[in-house]
Amino acid sequence: MIAQEDLFKKLIAHSKEYGYIFQSSEIYDGLGAVYDYGPYGAELKKNIRDYWWKSMVLLHENIVGIDSAIFMHPTTWKASGHVDAFNDPLIDNKDSKKRYRADVLIEEFREKLHAKIEKEVEKARKRFGDAFDESQFRATNPRVLENQAKIDDLTQRFQDALEAENMGAIRDLIVENKIVCPISGTANWTDVRQFNLMFATKLGSVSEDASTIYLRPETAQGIFVNFLNVQKSARMKIPFGIAQVGKAFRNEIVARQFIFRMREFEQMEMQFFVRPGEELKWYEYWKEKRMNWHQSLGLGAEKYRFHDHDKLAHYANAAADIEFKFPFGFKEVEGIHSRTDFDLSAHQQHSGKKMQYFDPEINESYVPYVVETSIGLDRTFLMILSNAYQEEKIEKENGQVDERVVLRIPPFLAPVQLAVLPLVKKDGLPEKAREIMNELKFDFNCQYDEKDAIGRRYRRQDAIGTPYCITIDHDSLTDNQVTIRDRDTMSQERVSIDALRGILESKLAMRQYLAKL
Ligand code: ATP
Repeated sequence: MIAQEDLFKKLIAHSKEYGYIFQSSEIYDGLGAVYDYGPYGAELKKNIRDYWWKSMVLLHENIVGIDSAIFMHPTTWKASGHVDAFNDPLIDNKDSKKRYRADVLIEEFREKLHAKIEKEVEKARKRFGDAFDESQFRATNPRVLENQAKIDDLTQRFQDALEAENMGAIRDLIVENKIVCPISGTANWTDVRQFNLMFATKLGSVSEDASTIYLRPETAQGIFVNFLNVQKSARMKIPFGIAQVGKAFRNEIVARQFIFRMREFEQMEMQFFVRPGEELKWYEYWKEKRMNWHQSLGLGAEKYRFHDHDKLAHYANAAADIEFKFPFGFKEVEGIHSRTDFDLSAHQQHSGKKMQYFDPEINESYVPYVVETSIGLDRTFLMILSNAYQEEKIEKENGQVDERVVLRIPPFLAPVQLAVLPLVKKDGLPEKAREIMNELKFDFNCQYDEKDAIGRRYRRQDAIGTPYCITIDHDSLTDNQVTIRDRDTMSQERVSIDALRGILESKLAMRQYLAKL
């Protein structure tokens, strides 16, 4: 087992070496928290986006997609509340001069207390063996109780402080709990200040007439302002949804952890418009649906959990995150929010245009309520990639031990799905290999490789996560068969060239995953 922090470092290096992710403008020493996707990264990202899009738009008759612009009329962001309330509480350590999100410091401290409890429980489990009564231990052990009380107190006070937007109280929590800066190790903190996360720029060429516009911090508002355009043009009846994938921008202050928190990122959002009063039913429905989608990726059910929000955003009446166990702990990948009629009503008020729907079934007009599912494409990418990265030792026939790095990406999402490898670079094998590839390239992303010994070529494909390799050898020319190798088991099987397409289809088609949703 590799330690989780090491794993993460290795993953970042691997992502660069194998063309998944590059630091933006690297030749100029990079730009903080901005990343570029390389050849394989772009493919994986596209496949994840497709899977999401198809699961939403193709599988639901009542969901349609749009592609709205990044720039929007500035009043949009006044109405949505982002100009006034899209803030993070920041705190600086005076010794290290490093800046942190105060809420994140508290969150991490709470996680540490949790970890202490779990450690006690594990120790006791080992000590008592079969006789261990976990619930009794949790209810009575003084150290567990003490830490639990600390967690409860912290949670309550933190929630109250957020609710009251009391920055002083948030600072007190940090100081009282002796939360220190991980760099300087000191608790020499500044006050907590609010910081708006939107990027602003100017529209127009002459600065005097230019007006301030923002790079959208979420894709959702493009959906809200188009709600009636879409409803009318696509003849949608409530309940219905509008889906969109696109870039969003946030001036994140604490931008660490690779592509987990970026300043330019991509969101996949779906706003589902419902009758007022039915929103909580649909909220539960989408929570379950979205968790199923995650589980369908096969990364392991135990790696996910729901986290209900301590403080509801200014627009929500219920909200939960789907969290995934990243190498750096459980963190949010997706949010499911019941946004009430907040956004549509606000746009109605600011624009003076009606944002109402006439419901023929109940003969009434109303401003619909909205349940949204909002998932980060880059975070989903990181979730899949960090889960995929594995280092393995392989015993060879001669008793020596070999090593390989393998990316166990779900096969249907893999950037290269099939490697086509002639055993040698002569005797007509390359020609035969090309012939096969020319047949298969319309359905699968194939890569041809004839360089180096076959073992090295397998390793290269393992490292980029190619689920299947086929090898064309001398016998292939006469028996019309090739060897197909499985990335995960490394088992090899001889199959007829004519059957290849069907075999690959059965293993790689996205269709099967969609059908199970
Ligand atoms: P966080 O608490 O991590 O800042 P958030 O609650 O502000 O996230 P939302 O506004 O709910 O995030 O956005 C929905 C999704 O968009 C998130 O679940 C996440 O996957 C993605 N996302 C948000 N901010 C970023 C970012 N800076 N970089 C990458 N993905 C992001």
